[in-house]
Amino acid sequence: MNILAIGAHPDDVEEYCGGTLAKYAKQGHKVFTATATNGNIGSATLPMDEIARIRKEEARRAAAHIGAEYICLDYNDEMFFEDREARIAFIDLVRYCQADIILTHSPKDYNPDHELTSKIVTDIAVMIPIAKIPTKNKPVDKIPIIVYFEPVNGIGFIPTEYVDITEEFETKKAMLYEHKSQITWMKDNYGDVLSDKDNYMSSIEIINKYRGLQCGVEYAEAFRMAYDAYRVVPRRVLP
Ligand SMILES: [Zn+2]
Repeated sequence: MNILAIGAHPDDVEEYCGGTLAKYAKQGHKVFTATATNGNIGSATLPMDEIARIRKEEARRAAAHIGAEYICLDYNDEMFFEDREARIAFIDLVRYCQADIILTHSPKDYNPDHELTSKIVTDIAVMIPIAKIPTKNKPVDKIPIIVYFEPVNGIGFIPTEYVDITEEFETKKAMLYEHKSQITWMKDNYGDVLSDKDNYMSSIEIINKYRGLQCGVEYAEAFRMAYDAYRVVPRRVLP
């Protein structure tokens, strides 16, 4: 299968589904990672184009750990809005990746970029095969299955699916550590809770251990299927 993980910001997909992507890759599936924005507000000191360039490189390096290709749609961080161009850009991305499965943010999350990314991905799934919606890449004859990963700190999220990432947790950490610019940003922006590299990682470790506790393994990532009346998924598609 072709797996596409779409986050709002560089580091989102590594945080919320990095272990699952590593597992898909290990099983021989083709994995793409993508972000709607380039993360260009993610520094208190660097100019916007410079931090955007750094963060895209960090995301590319993170993807390389699992042999994945990274694509950035280059919208402005926190100034990402829905319009015709954005919808077309997302359709074109999914067609380029010929995605069978898309992992993305939950409809309800703490950040508007996260929620909008989730909304657009969910909205465009049915448009991927439609020839009357032309994009640079040709229509693909499949409607991708949408899977939501959990919102920040898992707040208000009841999973329907778990993926055991015990064997992939070290790879996930290595992917996250590529986002070096964000360690400083977390400290500047969010204060003591995430005041250094180890605390940043331990907050992620707590979530993955908690999800592991729920499903009887050491580390897990949690998901919900975007079921609806028209697109029932009759089989397990997560690794
Ligand atoms: Zn984010």
